[in-house]
Amino acid sequence: MIGITSYGAYIPRLRLNRMAIFQHMGWFAPAIMMVAQGERSMCNWDEDSMTMAVEAARDCLRGMDKQKLDALYLASTTLPFADRQNAGILAAALNLKQNLVTADYSASQKAATTALITALESVKGGERDNILVTASDRRETRTAYFYEMWFGDGAAALAVGNQDVIAEYKGSHSLAIDFVDHYRGAQNQYDYVWEERWTRDMGYGRIIPQAVEGLFDKLGITMDAVDKLVYPCFFKGDHRKIAQMLGAGPEKLVDNMHEVCGETGVAHPFLMLVSALEQAGPGERILVCGFGQGANALYFEVTDNIRKLAGRNGVKGCLENKKTTDNYQKWLKFRDLIKTEMGIRAEAPTQTATTVLWRKNKMLLGLVGGKCSQCGTPQYPRMDICVNPQCGAVHTQEDYEFADVPATVKTFTGDMLSVSVDPPAIYGMVQFEGGGRMMADFTDCELDGMRVGLPVRMALKRKAVDKERGFVNYFWKAVPLPGASVAGAEALRFDDRVAVITGAGAGLGRTYALELAKRGAKVVVNDLGGARDGSGSGSSTPADEVVAEIKGFGGEAVANYDNVATAAGGENIVRTALETFGRIDILINNAGILRDKSFLKMTPENWQAVMDVHLNGAYFVTRPAMAAMKQNGYGRIVMTTSAAGLYGNFGQTNYSAAKMGLVGLANAIKLEGAKYNIKVNTVAPIAASRLTEDVMPPDLFEKSKPEFVSPMVLYLCSETCQSNGEIFNAGLGYFNRAAVLTGSAVQLGGPQSPPTVEQIHQNWKKIDSLEGARPLDDATAAIFDLLTPPSAESEAEADKAAGGDVGAIFEGMQSAFNAEAAAGVDVVFQFNISGAGGGQWFCEVSGGNCVVESGAHPKPACTIDMEAADFTALMQGKLPAMQAYTSGKLKLGGDIMKSQLLEKLFKIG
Ligand code: NAD
Repeated sequence: MIGITSYGAYIPRLRLNRMAIFQHMGWFAPAIMMVAQGERSMCNWDEDSMTMAVEAARDCLRGMDKQKLDALYLASTTLPFADRQNAGILAAALNLKQNLVTADYSASQKAATTALITALESVKGGERDNILVTASDRRETRTAYFYEMWFGDGAAALAVGNQDVIAEYKGSHSLAIDFVDHYRGAQNQYDYVWEERWTRDMGYGRIIPQAVEGLFDKLGITMDAVDKLVYPCFFKGDHRKIAQMLGAGPEKLVDNMHEVCGETGVAHPFLMLVSALEQAGPGERILVCGFGQGANALYFEVTDNIRKLAGRNGVKGCLENKKTTDNYQKWLKFRDLIKTEMGIRAEAPTQTATTVLWRKNKMLLGLVGGKCSQCGTPQYPRMDICVNPQCGAVHTQEDYEFADVPATVKTFTGDMLSVSVDPPAIYGMVQFEGGGRMMADFTDCELDGMRVGLPVRMALKRKAVDKERGFVNYFWKAVPLPGASVAGAEALRFDDRVAVITGAGAGLGRTYALELAKRGAKVVVNDLGGARDGSGSGSSTPADEVVAEIKGFGGEAVANYDNVATAAGGENIVRTALETFGRIDILINNAGILRDKSFLKMTPENWQAVMDVHLNGAYFVTRPAMAAMKQNGYGRIVMTTSAAGLYGNFGQTNYSAAKMGLVGLANAIKLEGAKYNIKVNTVAPIAASRLTEDVMPPDLFEKSKPEFVSPMVLYLCSETCQSNGEIFNAGLGYFNRAAVLTGSAVQLGGPQSPPTVEQIHQNWKKIDSLEGARPLDDATAAIFDLLTPPSAESEAEADKAAGGDVGAIFEGMQSAFNAEAAAGVDVVFQFNISGAGGGQWFCEVSGGNCVVESGAHPKPACTIDMEAADFTALMQGKLPAMQAYTSGKLKLGGDIMKSQLLEKLFKIG
């Protein structure tokens, strides 16, 4: 069988918020607002197509014997050298053997798929057994251009061969059509792009369907035989339209990653294919298309081997490891779009002596040091004499590759004086596991996230660019492992802590497991692997996959497949932690199933199944876990409740009851665990998962990744968290506390005369009121509170309403007016404020004056719709305008650009 045997991806950690481009350049090119959603990936200043290709190739080679490769292809239109084989640099960086065919594929956006077809056909022809095809692009655009928004930077790699095939190659079809939608002249830095409409209609819209139909004819299949459809097209609407044209439903279309990454040029069909493979199961059929002066279409069928693939970053891992910036100047500087004064030190010569480069090629490009064949001590650089003072043997060094050896920070400093594109320059000593140290630059990190002992991995980066001679010099730098480096004093680490997470094979639990492991915890990944409703005998795959992912980034984890809903299962989950890691510090009761039915249709079986997993499951796991925590005098437990339990939800009586039961369980455990420093808190998450895919609206589903919940759960698991017995709602990046509140007591009747029903009726308003209601610590406090009603004066105090007065804000608006900023400004703002205290007001600014009146203006230039509370927060300076806008709290109408004047015209806050 011939086909793809492995895959890997690399998307730079930095993302540029597209709104930041609009904020800085919208004054000049307002239309770019139309594509300003989400973020684009952006190379760090020391990254380019070569460094990204190296990372994608290394990701792809995980678990493979790289010396079995007999060819290496690199596809890109942004290669660093026009005449020095770029694939050769890649081979040196990967430290591959020399009897290897290397080739660069370039000059078209379809170069990667062309290289892939060539590789597959030469394996099929029996000439070679294993070929690595890598694609990478970092395209440049002028500032304030649509393409600055659309493009992203990234790389991906695919290994093809005839053994352990994960996606069988079924055939391909190619079209060569000299259709010039854009081009980049040999002497030019930027693409010249023809009209978009033409590119969309005549290019993507015709050529991709033609290639796909050609492939269908060749293979005698139809769209029915395709489960996933991959083709790049950065016009979102047209991306969907082409699928429709081909008769493919939206479920088949693989996302073009506009919101999260942008279009990565030659690499994009590969990146999308990697993303499709990550989600694919055995038997799924994938059609991939590359577009550019014609098109290539390839057809694959996924095999069972996909399940055996070693853990890797892939697209998923890369998308999770990100740092988003709003710093547009940084973007401009990193891309060399603005010139800054670099100082005299930057004038030091950067010429590379190619003689030295040749002599030290393995050491510089392959990070190859030496290992003493007598005492086994590794060292970098390799030298004639062993550095071990007890050994000192001469000429005993053998090649030793450091690139994939786990390492940590031994020392570091941040230096504002050294020349750096991104000061401070951070550098120091790296300590390799098993021996060996080197001085290295640290990159993809911030100084306040650095610490001694931080786990790092080595990565090839640009060391310097010699513009005069057109030479790029590469060397290895140290990069903190994803999630390992967290800003300064607040860095919450879980080193040496042991965490048990139930139901961690998917959804929220998986994310908790990954995030805890990234921060140093040793994790027991429990998952039964059953169906959504808990039926079936289960599967070890979900837990195993999460463990492989954790090990893939150097973390520690063990899988457990027990059922939480049995006493023996609970005991065994805890035993797995104790036997593997010797202790247990953290327990997250997260496993869950759903069996929704309206109450009258709720069978005892469905009632019991849900009780068993959620409520009884938490009991079965928590009891042995708490016993072990008590021994250590430390523990953090998180229960998972739900809005359905806290507030009610139609059709979920079993689930709501079980989830509220967990709150009761936590209420009692908080008291019993307190003296052993065991704290229990409860989270009510909202996240996209298989439990919610059919109950959540699709647009909300997209925005509600478990990563927007997990920070709260990690905080509740941390030593820093001192809260006990509290409940928190968490979802989409929003958090608040929920609690059982008790209102003020009302005393009726007298010592000898019980109250009457009529007295209850007469006092109903007071009894029913939650005015001044509070959470109470325990049952005793509640009884005490009931028997000690507040005095008459304190009730009067509580009557004074707190909060902002919208009317008063508009009354004060005139005095907040900044007449100087209003010169030449002629505008009417209409405010429509909803909720308590709301109403309509307008501000008319003209001739340097401002008039504020209630009511609706007949011709407002710009309308502003907000909730009263949000408006008050905005005007008090507590809610930034941009945040209000992007979160949907501030809705603008009419000439929305005029709204930017508001902050200038009025002194807000
Ligand atoms: P999910 O289905 O993706 O994950 C739940 C995991 O629990 C699955 O991997 C499943 O195999 C595992 N599991 C089920 N029964 C098990 C058992 N008996 N033993 C061991 N493992 C078992 O769902 P999710 O949305 O990630 O849910 C996680 C938790 O959060 C659940 O308790 C759920 O009720 C709760 N919750 C989720 C949401 C939400 O919006 N996703 C809202 C409220 C509450």
